[in-house]
Amino acid sequence: MEKIKVIFSRDQIQQKVKELGKRIADHYGDEEIILICNLKGAFIFLADLCRHITSPISVDFIATTSYKGTESTGDVRIIKDLKMDVRGKHILLVEDIVDTGYTVDYILKYLSLHKPKSLHVCTLLDKSCKREIELPIEYHGFEVGDHFVIGYGLDYNERYRELDYIGEFVQP
Ligand code: 5GP
Repeated sequence: MEKIKVIFSRDQIQQKVKELGKRIADHYGDEEIILICNLKGAFIFLADLCRHITSPISVDFIATTSYKGTESTGDVRIIKDLKMDVRGKHILLVEDIVDTGYTVDYILKYLSLHKPKSLHVCTLLDKSCKREIELPIEYHGFEVGDHFVIGYGLDYNERYRELDYIGEFVQP
């Protein structure tokens, strides 16, 4: 059984998600937002975040792939497309973590082809020390260093998503 060190506790995460939800609602007010969740890693964050946004919201999902094990490959592909028509709408892309930035850069370029009214990014975790592409990120929760993190939606080979905290493996 792997040992996991807690980086952000359940309470820290819940507090941060609440703050982010309030900032988002303060910004959009009564305007409708379409929250687009990048699967699978952001599904738990989205579920908590959307319940702290008092603005009118809709939710849609997109899925991309670029990771093999613990490494980002930079070769991003969309494996599940949007269902909603987002033209002329405010879009907020909800991400679990931005690492090199290739995934969000790719999704932003793709979403902008749909001519939204506005397009912003909300990520729970920002691994900015690993960034290879400059990105506009309006909302970010926590900064993380060069660690591979798991929990609260984030996996290692599809495991550990259900943890209510964010942690990293402790080397034996
Ligand atoms: P990027 O394209 O920015 O390098 O990587 C973004 C995607 O890689 C994220 O949506 C996430 O799925 C995955 N990722 C990046 N860093 C981590 C990490 O530390 N842990 C996990 N589980 N996934 C990560």
